[in-house]
Amino acid sequence: MKRFLIISNRLPVQIAISDDNIDVTPSVGGLATGMQSVSKSFKSSWIGWSGVEAQNLSSEQQKKVDNALAKENCIDVNLTEEEVELYYEGFSNKTIWPLFHYFSQFVEYEEDQWQAYKAVNQKFADVIAENMEGVDKIWVHDYHLLLLPQMIKERFPEVTIGFFLHIPFPSYEVFRILPWRNEIINGMLGADLLGFHTFDYERHFMSSVRRLLGYDIQINEISLPRRIVKVDNFPMGIDYDKFHDAAIASQKKSVRDKSEVRKELERYYLLYPETKFILSIDRLDYSKGLINRLEAFEYFLQEYPEYRDKVTLVLLAVPSRVGVEQYQQMKSEVDEIVGRVNGKYSSINRMPIWYFYRSLPFQNLVDLYNYCEIALITPIRDGMNLVAKEFIASKTDGRGVLILSEMAGASKEMSEALIINPNDKAQIAAAIQTAIEMPDEEQIERNTILQKRLKRYNVEKWANDFLNSLEKVKMSEEIYL
Ligand code: UDP
Repeated sequence: MKRFLIISNRLPVQIAISDDNIDVTPSVGGLATGMQSVSKSFKSSWIGWSGVEAQNLSSEQQKKVDNALAKENCIDVNLTEEEVELYYEGFSNKTIWPLFHYFSQFVEYEEDQWQAYKAVNQKFADVIAENMEGVDKIWVHDYHLLLLPQMIKERFPEVTIGFFLHIPFPSYEVFRILPWRNEIINGMLGADLLGFHTFDYERHFMSSVRRLLGYDIQINEISLPRRIVKVDNFPMGIDYDKFHDAAIASQKKSVRDKSEVRKELERYYLLYPETKFILSIDRLDYSKGLINRLEAFEYFLQEYPEYRDKVTLVLLAVPSRVGVEQYQQMKSEVDEIVGRVNGKYSSINRMPIWYFYRSLPFQNLVDLYNYCEIALITPIRDGMNLVAKEFIASKTDGRGVLILSEMAGASKEMSEALIINPNDKAQIAAAIQTAIEMPDEEQIERNTILQKRLKRYNVEKWANDFLNSLEKVKMSEEIYL
């Protein structure tokens, strides 16, 4: 059987190191789940960074890490502290991330970060080169590795390369700002198949290729001087059954076995049966639109006073990139607005916002998704937004209303949600009212369609669709040769 390589910045594992023990546990994120299904049909290995900086390990420990990873079919790309700082925290998260999410005011243009980005992409290419035996297909993931497809193609022209971008690709007018735009786009064009979440991202990419490099573009194809690159959209799905089944199981649990979150929500509901819980979950990232969400909620409480005692916003902000200045600033701003709103609208017994700054284990997340009547998801820009899909998947009686930003990739597949412009406070406030008042039958009607779609286009289907397209590209290349 031919081997297949999956490449991403981080390996899908958690590593815990104590004095004499190395513990490697597989992580259960969406990408890892999608790939599990793929590895049933291919013998695959995963290459990426383990999350442990190389100089913090003795050679003995490194050997143990490598052995433990090998059991999970994973291969470590050793990164030093400096590489992590310049390539990951630097160029990936301070240049590409803000630019591709249209936050050009936050973009840093640092030559040393760019050099480190190139060097680390090369390091990945070197590790791949050491592991090429029997490999005929490679799937590279995401914005940390935009140069890698070309680096692999130069060394292994006969290997079929797929690349998937998990964040938006911005419009040409934004992308052109980048001093290294041509290198980036040439790097991506090393792939034989390029995948994006939505048709719009695909279109933006094509337009940048045409305007920067002048290549001929047809529908879904770019003609390079010596070969064709296919481009398509593959909206990423979730592990639908995992969320849906966990929600059903949770409802059946006895009081003793229920999660603390669920018990707390149920207790509160008994005291205040009129309460509607509005759920907000995301990483604390400027692209997620937490500030505008909070301001819109404040506006709602101000303009719709009759609902003040009837709503509670459950705000889960997951710490993210805490070393980066904009994230620290945003945290202070969120703290301030939450304080202001709670100070203004709390009564002795009630607080309009329950604020949690932490991440939650899977079961608690599912309980929040399942129990809260409304989800308020208002990113300024978001490649996809899986939380929106997980909320709908965790509904068990068809009730629940999703308010979703039109700037999230997910909105393209979820038009049955209440779609809002995240910068329009009045529209968001009106959508909250509509959600509170929406009759059960209408909620069920909308969610039945959404759930059917999410179940069908789950993460397994996403991974298989991409790989089937990659296989077709490979076959057409063989015919062409
Ligand atoms: N998530 C999590 N723990 C939490 C909150 C969220 O594991 O406490 C997960 C959530 O289930 C979802 C992911 O984090 O799968 C967030 O994905 P999304 O596409 O919404 O945003 P991203 O953070 O990737 O930009």
